Amino acid sequence: MQTYRADLHIHTVLSPCGDLDMSPRNIVETAKARNIDIIAITDHNSTLHGPVIRKLAKPLGISVIYGAEVTTREEAHCLCLFDTDEQREKFQEYINLNLPSFPNDPQRFGYQVVVNEDDEILYEIEPLLINGLSVGINDIEKTVHGLGGLFIPAHVDRPRYSLISQLGFVPPDLNYDALEIFGKTNPANFLSANSYLKNPVLIKNSDAHFLEQLGETFTTYRMAEPTFDELVKALKGEDGRQVLSF
Ligand SMILES: [Zn+2]
Ligand SMILES: [Zn+2]
Repeated sequence: MQTYRADLHIHTVLSPCGDLDMSPRNIVETAKARNIDIIAITDHNSTLHGPVIRKLAKPLGISVIYGAEVTTREEAHCLCLFDTDEQREKFQEYINLNLPSFPNDPQRFGYQVVVNEDDEILYEIEPLLINGLSVGINDIEKTVHGLGGLFIPAHVDRPRYSLISQLGFVPPDLNYDALEIFGKTNPANFLSANSYLKNPVLIKNSDAHFLEQLGETFTTYRMAEPTFDELVKALKGEDGRQVLSF
């Protein structure tokens, strides 16, 4: 068993608020320079940049998990993470079906570009990606788990676009795999203020929108190898795998 560093919340140039320097190549090179073993690519309401980043990361020995930071109908941000191309494609179809067609205004919100491994722009995404999907958090959770993914409400104690800011609490019937807390939050204080939580597994990630933020905050896991399946076990505390620290 070894320890691995994972940053499971990273935006790219595809997110309107993601810096133009957040290109696939820059992301993997920065992760390598900062000794991050596993990264998850979580653009707002899009999984599209996962494959190109996984391809670029492979020669560097970095594991890439597919994902998206979905905005639910309640306007709570949730990390939805996947392992395989098939899972990612099916979840992308679900997003496409439920994302309002309201167009992006690049001057106001920023560009939403899909690029290739050479940082060349392939096309722009028309609908504004930061809008809430037309489906609620429970529907999204069931869809993610139905596909075999991980469902992790993002920055739950942040004062905007979080479960606690939008609903006032973590719903007791919500089946989540972990809660992401804000980088500066003291986990013991968070748990004592939220002692009702059914699942107390907490993680931290960078939520990087700029290269300098990537890997600044991460979580260490004890696992046999840096894979999605091992991460699932670590979050459940199975077979000696565990979330160690952040
Ligand atoms: Zn967010
Ligand atoms: Zn984010």
